[in-house]
Amino acid sequence: MSVCLAVDIGGTKIAAALVDCETNHIIERCQIATPQSQQPAILSAALASLLRPFINQANFVAIASTGIIDNGILTALNPDNLGGLNKFELVDEIQRITQLPTYAMNDAQAAAWYEYISLTPNNNINNMLFITVSTGIGGGLVLNQQLQTGARGISGHIGHTVVNANGPMCGCGRQGCIEKVASGTAIGEIGSLLFDCLYSGQEVYQLALEGNNDALNIIHSSAAAVAELIANLTITLDLDSIVIGGSVGLAPNYCHYIQQYLNEKPALYRPYIILAQSGADAGLLGAASWFAQQQSH
Ligand SMILES: [Zn+2]
Repeated sequence: MSVCLAVDIGGTKIAAALVDCETNHIIERCQIATPQSQQPAILSAALASLLRPFINQANFVAIASTGIIDNGILTALNPDNLGGLNKFELVDEIQRITQLPTYAMNDAQAAAWYEYISLTPNNNINNMLFITVSTGIGGGLVLNQQLQTGARGISGHIGHTVVNANGPMCGCGRQGCIEKVASGTAIGEIGSLLFDCLYSGQEVYQLALEGNNDALNIIHSSAAAVAELIANLTITLDLDSIVIGGSVGLAPNYCHYIQQYLNEKPALYRPYIILAQSGADAGLLGAASWFAQQQSH
């Protein structure tokens, strides 16, 4: 039996799990809070203590991480987000800790792959886009039934496509990226400006659900922007399906609003919309499955 030690590195938590590669099920799982210090040595120490108990039972390590994984090195479209962890040698460091073959990919790409393999037994899907609308907006692309990771690890970073050229400046260096206009963070920022009081995205969403029209308009603008993105990418890539995830994407009515905006467009712009099914372990299971498959080829 081949066993993968899967690791999911996010902004708030780091999860590790032993995954049975034949069944793609989690055997054992553990998680810690992501160290708030952005010093490489502190992250390395945290990873070492999290991973050590699992090492003897694993054949290889598969990492899903926030940011861009460019040839095993962690970076980001907005390197300021990573602070001292920009250019962190993620794969080399975990290989040093575990002494196991180690592979890494972006977390949204990993989640996209897991959503895809969870769907395909029942669906004839070739070209799928996974969109997560959460604190930020991310995604992963499956084309011709294969995940696209990109030569530089960038593929699927849909949060940084522009929806309003006069919109707010984004940390990536562009103006009006969809992440600055439609993410949970953006919903909170727009609501805070409008109501002249500090609101989180979740609080603005709750106001909308309680019938506040101004809050509802903010949510609708977000869903409309995501629908435009879906239409653009569908006509570019001939997508047949879109999987929507994330705390905003899965919030009540959000997907329904996206569908409403898509329904106003001609049929070619309307792929099949599916709600993400896989939950918090999609990154772990997606990375385990993707790299198990890459090894067997
Ligand atoms: Zn951007």
